[in-house]
Amino acid sequence: MTLSKQRIRQLSVEDSCRAVREGSLAAREVAEAYLESARQREPEVHAFLRLEPQEVLQQAELLDERIRKGEAVGPLAGLPVAVKDVIVTRGTPTTCGSRILENYRPPYDATVIERLREAGALVFGKTNCDEFAMGSSTENSAYFPTRNPWDNRLVPGGSSGGSAACVAAGQAPVALGTDTGGSIRQPAAFCGLVGLKPTYGRVSRYGLVAFASSLDQIGPLARNVREAALLLNTIAGHDHRDSTSAPLEPEDFTARLGRDLKGLRVGVPQEWMGEGLQPEIRHRVEFAMRQLEDLGCRLDPVHLPHNRYAIATYYIIAPAEASSNLARYDGVRYGFRATGGGESLEAMYRATRSSGFGREVKRRIMLGTYVLSAGYYDAYFVKAARVRRLIRQDLDQAFEKVQLLLGPTTPSPPFALGEKLADPLQMYLSDVFTVTANLAGIPGINLPAGSTSEGLPVGIQLLAPHFQESRLLQAAYALEQVLGVGRGAWDSGQ
Ligand code: GLN
Repeated sequence: MTLSKQRIRQLSVEDSCRAVREGSLAAREVAEAYLESARQREPEVHAFLRLEPQEVLQQAELLDERIRKGEAVGPLAGLPVAVKDVIVTRGTPTTCGSRILENYRPPYDATVIERLREAGALVFGKTNCDEFAMGSSTENSAYFPTRNPWDNRLVPGGSSGGSAACVAAGQAPVALGTDTGGSIRQPAAFCGLVGLKPTYGRVSRYGLVAFASSLDQIGPLARNVREAALLLNTIAGHDHRDSTSAPLEPEDFTARLGRDLKGLRVGVPQEWMGEGLQPEIRHRVEFAMRQLEDLGCRLDPVHLPHNRYAIATYYIIAPAEASSNLARYDGVRYGFRATGGGESLEAMYRATRSSGFGREVKRRIMLGTYVLSAGYYDAYFVKAARVRRLIRQDLDQAFEKVQLLLGPTTPSPPFALGEKLADPLQMYLSDVFTVTANLAGIPGINLPAGSTSEGLPVGIQLLAPHFQESRLLQAAYALEQVLGVGRGAWDSGQ
């Protein structure tokens, strides 16, 4: 079988991996197909911090050789997976979008990378992101901003903007992102993709450079629900090297795809449908509500009374944890060291950290140090921790009545580059509907739900109780069938 590169890119993940496993398509051909697309689109999109064709082709050739020898290879054989540059990859730089890790080459693979390699997938480059995943537009990368493939004057969202943009542009079939307060779901919404934040503890964080340890989760960005579920099958699972990883039996997250939704109760948080939500987004959520009703679901309004404190709570807890996690970048243990810091060790630390970190990261370190400092700890950090519990209780109560929640992912469609850069509070408000899932630890998914009158993608969000990804994916899949799949930016102009 000889397929054109374009045809190869149009294959579903399942078809492509099956063909590679069976030997009718070479992993090398798949890799070349996406490398071609990357060559064409990357000069405009800037999704990758590092994409070395030789490294990709070498992995593909090794796999092809194993297949030729008749060795069994895993379910993701030959699948190129783009990886956000906050996830460590053995021997290749992992910068977290920061100067302070410019020269850092990790000596090991993250658990998710190990699992992907075992499943036969290829690491297809490292994607751009906001520095240490702090941001909502990828403009906080120390290297360059990434652009939205639908319109290059717009941001792709963040902080996993590079991962979203490369999939939306057809440069990679799937990608890994991370979500601390919305960084998978929000860029998925801005780029017209499916983006899944799993339950806290579902996917190992071993080898994920920590931003806010009680909130961070790794998850897939994909063209459709099935492909997101397939990737989750591989990356999920217990890992003794991450003490917060849940000891659960493996699960096939595709098992419920295609089952009907009759009798499912879906709640719509009223606090998410009012002030601050642009009408074009609200209309798409309302449209999805009607579709779910047609599919046999029962829709109920629910209330999350403490939701209005979610952003404030998140922006105390996340910087507090970040200030502690980022203390390790001192110019001694990792990456970059500023020279000319004077005589003392202290001066070297100061010079390294002041030139190695960007503005937003410094802002978070200062905020976090402040809310944890002796005089303010009770007033800010402890209080935020208490409100976090109330936010979680609101969700527990809602989930006594309904099985899923539906709402918007973002308050607005993708915004212009530069638009919110000077106003951090405006930027923080981009996460108003996403941080709740992280504070509570529950899974959430963004689903493309049509477009604005200007043709820009709009995303909607479904949330489920802890560890109910299967049901979440089942509902997302059913909704995707009626809202339409495969009308991504990758379909145009290729
Ligand atoms: N935009 C949010 C922040 O800046 C969330 C980031 C994330 O999920 N990594 O903290």
